[in-house]
Amino acid sequence: MLIEGKLLASDVEAETREKVERLAELGVLPGLATVLVGENPASQMYIRLKHSACGRVGIHSENVVLAENTTEEQLIGKILELNARPDIHGILLQLPLPKGLSPKKAMMTIKPEKDVDGFHPENMGSLLLGAERLVPCTPLGIIYALERLGKKLEGAEVVIVGHSNVVGKPLAAMMLNRNATVQVCHVFTKDLAKHTRDAEILVVAAGVPGLIKGDMVKPGAFVFDVGINRVGNKTVGDVDFEAVKDVAAAITPVPGGVGPLTVSMLLRQTVQAAESQQRKIEKRD
Ligand code: NAD
Repeated sequence: MLIEGKLLASDVEAETREKVERLAELGVLPGLATVLVGENPASQMYIRLKHSACGRVGIHSENVVLAENTTEEQLIGKILELNARPDIHGILLQLPLPKGLSPKKAMMTIKPEKDVDGFHPENMGSLLLGAERLVPCTPLGIIYALERLGKKLEGAEVVIVGHSNVVGKPLAAMMLNRNATVQVCHVFTKDLAKHTRDAEILVVAAGVPGLIKGDMVKPGAFVFDVGINRVGNKTVGDVDFEAVKDVAAAITPVPGGVGPLTVSMLLRQTVQAAESQQRKIEKRD
């Protein structure tokens, strides 16, 4: 079975559109600001995708573009401005930043309640403690898809390839929060196949095309291919799709799998942020 990320994402968009309409009745228009530093073409493309998705569900969105030679002070200053704006409920800093700019301080400057990418240490810390608030969008999209597919997570053998702060680590925490048994592999893992063959749910986020071959997958596994790699003029994942699709029970395509799910979770979290900021205002008044 193909896990059609695009179709699932369109359901999330429909739900999100309804929530946007409910907020409109309260006079609230959810707003997302993205911050792009420099002219990385891949980042520009991701930003375009995010803004057109916002447009489809009625979220107001604006893109702040800063020059490649922006200083840390200037970037922080811009984020502080966005933090102070009541019409902006979500702030997303597009990574990677140009060389010489550290994402750490900028990320920490984003108000946790506006951190729709879920990267702020406060949100990451809550996630680790089992109290999920705003969380990273790619892991959230994978959890959403598994729930929609009716795959039980409690007690499931989950193997994650990749231990980045964006995908692998937060996904491992989210899986543990749902009582899965989790193994996390990475570039220093000695025998990758030994681990991946255990997986009922295999998530691969390494950025290495063709890393996962057919004989590395347990028959009947659910496979999520997070990788986005350019090979020639094609975009491919980290999984040898043709070989693995005959072994797995379900697999995401690249493109059209995890990518659209990730964007849809950004919309969902922007509306969630707007709702919780609105509740805060109502409590205060
Ligand atoms: P990263 O690039 O920061 O780190 C890569 C991870 O893979 C590390 O943990 C590393 O140890 C591991 N790794 C590298 N080579 C390996 C190997 N040969 N064997 C086992 N592990 C190996 O990770 P990231 O930012 O999570 O990105 C991973 C991939 O996912 C990239 O292709 C990225 O473009 C893609 N991505 C896609 C989405 C999406 O929405 N679809 C979102 C985020 C990242």
